[in-house]
Amino acid sequence: MGLAERSALLGFSDIVKIRNRVMDMRARGQRVLQLEGGEPFIGTPDFVKKAMKAALDANHTRYAPSSGIPALLDALREKLARKNRITVSTNDIIITSGGAHGLFCAFQASVNPGDEVMFFAPYWTPIQDQVRYSGGVAVRVPWDDVRSGDMREALESRVTSRTRVIYVNTPANPTGDVLNRDQLTAIADFAKAHDLTVISDEAYEDLLYDGEHVSMASLPDMLARTISVFTFSKSFSMTGWRIGYVVAPETFMGFLRKLVLNSVNGVSTPTQHAALAAITHDPHFFDAIREDYRRRRDLLVGGFRRADFDCLTPPGAFYAFPDVRRRLGGDSWKAMETLLERTSIASVPGAVFGPEGEGHLRMSYSTSMEVLEEAVEALSSL
Ligand code: PLP
Repeated sequence: MGLAERSALLGFSDIVKIRNRVMDMRARGQRVLQLEGGEPFIGTPDFVKKAMKAALDANHTRYAPSSGIPALLDALREKLARKNRITVSTNDIIITSGGAHGLFCAFQASVNPGDEVMFFAPYWTPIQDQVRYSGGVAVRVPWDDVRSGDMREALESRVTSRTRVIYVNTPANPTGDVLNRDQLTAIADFAKAHDLTVISDEAYEDLLYDGEHVSMASLPDMLARTISVFTFSKSFSMTGWRIGYVVAPETFMGFLRKLVLNSVNGVSTPTQHAALAAITHDPHFFDAIREDYRRRRDLLVGGFRRADFDCLTPPGAFYAFPDVRRRLGGDSWKAMETLLERTSIASVPGAVFGPEGEGHLRMSYSTSMEVLEEAVEALSSL
């Protein structure tokens, strides 16, 4: 009897520690300005909830094909062609239990033990674990090196004969960085030159305030080597519904189907009907919401700058990632505690997102304007 050795390969989110600390403070009656989260500030739209209720009333409650219901796959095929410029058939799409499950399957399907996997850092924490769990070796490329530097050079200087996969997340968590078409083309050329697979995480495709979202698989000759991962979580405020989808060429799709079959055996059938209502809704639905996010971003970033923090204006996602070294010191766990004590603002230490995140804090501006105004006021008297 005993625990499997592979358990050593997976960590547990440090963010849980912060959540527990916040819950403790609230239980003691203290007010906390909660900017540590990562969820849309608005609820799931009514048209999605109505579709869920209708699906239940129509008894769409039995097993569905494990790869997804045909109507949803067809609607996604149309959305991918129109919005992402990814032209595929429904056989190239599979429904997953959120983006996290899609990414898990993508790494399991493309990484062999000892393969090196490149990704930009600071990175979304689960990526490091997923690379390790697939047997891969993480190779971090600092965002600082590519933000204004030469993308191809940054990648070429870290490639080895064992490099197999590059994970690209734009718009990015935790920094809010967005890669433009030139930068993505440089990554694509690099992937082609070294025969790499690209895992393209497009969870925040709708949360972009300047410029266009470019899908890696839409670039010339990239469809055949890209596993694209999407989710309903952020665009449709459906984080708790657990539904996303993966687009991949046949090389990977056969195994992705087996992974989905053997892990969740398909996403809940009524949830797929609700997702169909979401994806076939007016494509301009998100435009007004995007403006709400932009106002929130400008308010929080402005507050940090006035309080003498270095804070870039993040072009995407819903996080600010201020450099706190000058005001709060270089240890981001201590900085998180100090900020919480002095201003009641809860945040996530940058070190949680890898060593490149040290000296920073991640704060989500996906919350009410009232909370953000209070946070900005508190920062001004820090
Ligand atoms: N990718 C990134 C970068 C994320 O930040 C998240 C969620 O926070 C996801 C993927 C997956 O989200 P979900 O599993 O809710 O679809």
